[in-house]
Amino acid sequence: MSKKVRVRFAPSPTGGLHLGGVRTVLYNYLFARQNGGDFVLRIEDTDQSRFVPGAEEYIFTCLDWCGLHPDEDPHKGGPYGPYRQSERKSLYRQYAEQLVKSGHAYYAFDRPEELDSMRERFKTPNNPSPQYDHNVRMEMRNSCSLTLEEAETLLEDGVPHVIRIRMPENETVTFTDMIRGEVSFHTGLVDDKVLLKADGMPTYHLAVVVDDYLMKITHAFRGEEWLPSAPVHLLLWKYLGWGSSMPQWAHLPLILKPDGNGKLSKRDGDRLGFPVFAMNWTDPRSQELTKGFREIGFLPEAFVNLLAMLGWNDGTDQEIFTLEELISRFSMDRVHKGGAKFDFEKAKWFNHEWIKRSEIARLKPDVKKVLENKGVPVNNEAVLEKVIGLVKERCTLLTDFYEQSKFFFEAPAELDVDSVKPKWTNEKKVLFESFVAALKSPNGHASFEKWAAPELETGFKKLATDEGIKPGEVMMPLRVMLVGGKYGPGVFEIMETIGKEETVRRIEFAIHQFIK
Ligand code: GLU
Repeated sequence: MSKKVRVRFAPSPTGGLHLGGVRTVLYNYLFARQNGGDFVLRIEDTDQSRFVPGAEEYIFTCLDWCGLHPDEDPHKGGPYGPYRQSERKSLYRQYAEQLVKSGHAYYAFDRPEELDSMRERFKTPNNPSPQYDHNVRMEMRNSCSLTLEEAETLLEDGVPHVIRIRMPENETVTFTDMIRGEVSFHTGLVDDKVLLKADGMPTYHLAVVVDDYLMKITHAFRGEEWLPSAPVHLLLWKYLGWGSSMPQWAHLPLILKPDGNGKLSKRDGDRLGFPVFAMNWTDPRSQELTKGFREIGFLPEAFVNLLAMLGWNDGTDQEIFTLEELISRFSMDRVHKGGAKFDFEKAKWFNHEWIKRSEIARLKPDVKKVLENKGVPVNNEAVLEKVIGLVKERCTLLTDFYEQSKFFFEAPAELDVDSVKPKWTNEKKVLFESFVAALKSPNGHASFEKWAAPELETGFKKLATDEGIKPGEVMMPLRVMLVGGKYGPGVFEIMETIGKEETVRRIEFAIHQFIK
């Protein structure tokens, strides 16, 4: 029987969640759901110096917003908890010690100034910042260079020390990446990474291997930036005697700047005017706010969809996928090796498509929030539903619903008088006056007896023609009177929706503004 699929997303809570991070969550989630497996969220918070208050909560909210719910996590718990590495601290030392015993790791007692002096002594023009590796190992104060007695005395005296992996000088380690195929590394180029710090906390390298093992992770998907760490992890799996349980790895392609020139960073977003974080993030130290996709008006369905397409397609031209469709179609072997360029215009296209396709009921709570946040009173749910139906085609972002629909709920504060005035004539004014009169007392104007867009249109056009005015010349003024500007859905639909009294009020108010 094959093992149950178990995957994990293992973020370090150090700040806002980047697009790439959420895409890692998504691919994990899709793979787990597709294979009837478990999706684990593990918080990798062993580097206390990088601890940022609020960052963990942010991750939870973010996953929630995207609808990518873990099966096991620090809140929910699960059979392999705790799921926060800082709470697992006592677990790791034994494995580091085991590695020391088997000769694959060693105690290192070097003080910061000794490390600095090593870098000074060994630096060359070609190697300005030498690493702690097999070249310098024997020159340093550690249990490889010291005698057993010396090392034991230092340990007994409680001299602060770390445990480092002893990277072999000349070996090739190889693994098969699910995306990249066979990948090899020469161990001589990799430094002796610290596994356990002086305060007893494991580093990422030890913790990730121990936890992936203990949590029975079968597949580990992470960003390409972790590929250089793979040889360390591979050797740890082997040295700890767990080689046959090692997860299958996939290193996901980077998300690149729009011009393809390097990894997309938060700074690129600031510079080019688009978000790179899933949701707003306020750095608790600097109070600096970084905008998120959620707040600028993306639907989570669209966000998830566009992330899926950053580095993957199903082999057809289809671009719009629901989460359910992604679960059934996703496959790791169609994930591209090369980085995926991020194109904000394309991202907005996804959102527009999703807004167009979404049911009115789905959009209603979000649109209501957008309007209410802007102080637009929405007290009639039926009107709101009708308005959403009328304008959703015109909205790229949820926030566009404000501009596109505020005039349904309150009279425009200002009218774009300048676009009407130059061609405004007394005849037009007379037409609008008789239009208002006919609306008020429709006797004799069959079209205005029923308050419905098609009849209103017929009636208005007939009235204009009767007065010798081409209907085409008064449509724009009518629109400006009702909307405030030259935009919006069909003008007679607007009239139908805002009702007779409001229509009359707006036209009467506007006529006086246009007088030359
Ligand atoms: N804690 C690592 C990070 O913050 C996780 C890398 C991995 O998934 O192995 O990205």
